Amino acid sequence: MPDPTSLPTVEPPGFPGLPDAGVLQEMANAFFRALPGDAREVPPPPAMAGPGFAPPSVPVPPAATPVVPSVPVPVPFAILPLTPDVNPGSIADQNRSVAPSLYLTGFSASRPAFERKAIPALDRSLPNEAELKALLADRAPARGPVAPTGGGAMSSPTSEPYFLRPLPAPTSFPAAPTLPAGGRTALVPPAARPAAGAGFDPSVIRKDFPILTERVGGKPLVWLDNAATTQKPRAVIERLVWFYEHENSNIHRAAHTLAARATDAYEAAREDVRAFLNAGSSDEIVFVRGATEGINLVAETWGRANIGAGDEILITGLEHHANIVPWYRLAKAVGATLRVAPVDDKGDVIVEAFAGLLGPRTRLVSLTQVSNALGTVTPAALLVAMAHAAGAKVLVDGAQSVPHMPTDVRALDADWFVFSGHKVFGPTGIGALYGKKAILDAMPPYQGGGNMIADVTFEAISYQPPPSRFEAGTGNIADAVGLGAALTYLSSLGLAAVAAHEHALIEDCVRQLKTVSGVRIVGDPAERAGVVSFVIEGINTEEVGRRLAQDGIAVRAGHHCAQPVLRRFGLESTVRPSFAIYNTHDDVEALIGAIRRIRVGA
Ligand code: PMP
Repeated sequence: MPDPTSLPTVEPPGFPGLPDAGVLQEMANAFFRALPGDAREVPPPPAMAGPGFAPPSVPVPPAATPVVPSVPVPVPFAILPLTPDVNPGSIADQNRSVAPSLYLTGFSASRPAFERKAIPALDRSLPNEAELKALLADRAPARGPVAPTGGGAMSSPTSEPYFLRPLPAPTSFPAAPTLPAGGRTALVPPAARPAAGAGFDPSVIRKDFPILTERVGGKPLVWLDNAATTQKPRAVIERLVWFYEHENSNIHRAAHTLAARATDAYEAAREDVRAFLNAGSSDEIVFVRGATEGINLVAETWGRANIGAGDEILITGLEHHANIVPWYRLAKAVGATLRVAPVDDKGDVIVEAFAGLLGPRTRLVSLTQVSNALGTVTPAALLVAMAHAAGAKVLVDGAQSVPHMPTDVRALDADWFVFSGHKVFGPTGIGALYGKKAILDAMPPYQGGGNMIADVTFEAISYQPPPSRFEAGTGNIADAVGLGAALTYLSSLGLAAVAAHEHALIEDCVRQLKTVSGVRIVGDPAERAGVVSFVIEGINTEEVGRRLAQDGIAVRAGHHCAQPVLRRFGLESTVRPSFAIYNTHDDVEALIGAIRRIRVGA
């Protein structure tokens, strides 16, 4: 067997480009030649990619006679080195005797990160040459039983694996706005919206969402209730099925194979969330039920420990009840004051008023990045910077922003960031709380129970570090894995392209709504994402919702759990179509046509 360290190296092309099939083949061949007879401990895969990260050199034999028949390489996912890997830290830390798992390790074009794909059939030994050939072949369109860990390629009898779709060009995160020198207009930087990428095609995306072919009352379903919850792509549905068919176990505790698989999948999903948010460490990601639980967790832990009588909590007038009630309750309990930054007639937070409400007693600011009622995109990075300058900690509610725009918690500099999986094409009952490591480290536990303790006696209890400290009991393991798949799916589309597509839909919707007499659009914010709210003169909103439903069009009609902001506009309820990646201009036409018919009949 050749010594891999003595082999010449082939430099893969500069990241994030993809190596060609020949390079991949050489790498695979090198790996086959280096295979030992038995399983052995090997170093963990290289650290996650960051700025300036380059793929490692890969040893290849001097005269590579292909061992592997040429394999069609999927465009967006390239296997670089094939790396056998023994249990990841999560399991190894818990129990060294757990059976080793093996992974294909590689890069995804959509994400500058190593990805590890579990190979469940090969748990007890390194793959032999024939098995590796099969695994490589499974990457071909013919597909096969390669199980993804936290997203990636899914085999399906009915659908093309989603990784085979060409990806739009990689996107970059916009820089955080800087503190304003002066007036209001400087606060929202002009949105440099990229055109929707050539690879972004909603008609192709729709095919990934089985429910979109449903007919309701004999009409094709037009799903415009995305702000309430999004539909799920096959990649998520099949990932959940795969979990329950191949991986299901409780995590972290047992010394058996399924526990290892389930733990791997769960921790890989945490890494997916980290990458999606651009957090610095997966230890900063706590799985919670959703945005609501994330906010309550911070209020009940950090809030109880750090906010006292006479202190102030500042929110904005745009907030969802989930970002009002926990702070109201905390303020009542500890004798603090809840202050609210007002909203102007367009539905924007009045930044000067926000600044005026910040003071030496402000301990915490909690604000939404996108309003679920009006669609207002707040200048969140600016407000965070202003709050920090006043010495306050800041939580950003990303429930309505994450499906619609790139998220970068480090650029945002929020101390905490919350979102819900079900609004970002993932399952219900799962979401994430991001918290800066030093802050999470100093926070007391939320709930007590299993998983979150280091040691228990009747006299003294010590706790795990974050994130385990905040994940008491058996969590929503499968749905966390499903969330990882959802984020991987969404990222593969390119968030900038998503934003551009949805922006065009919303502009179309607003423009056409303005042509319908009797329709009043609520708010005209400087920047809008996801949502348009309106009322129709003389017809109550519930009736509008009901009549639209008869045409197969699902929208929300009600107070959207944001009563204060609607009352700011003198309303108790609005009709709220909300958009997502799979919506089209045909959906807008269907909505406008139905509204016109309602107007005629009114
Ligand atoms: N914040 C905002 C802005 C929301 O739109 C929502 C859900 N509508 C929430 C928080 C709460 O999310 P969940 O119910 O998923 O916890």
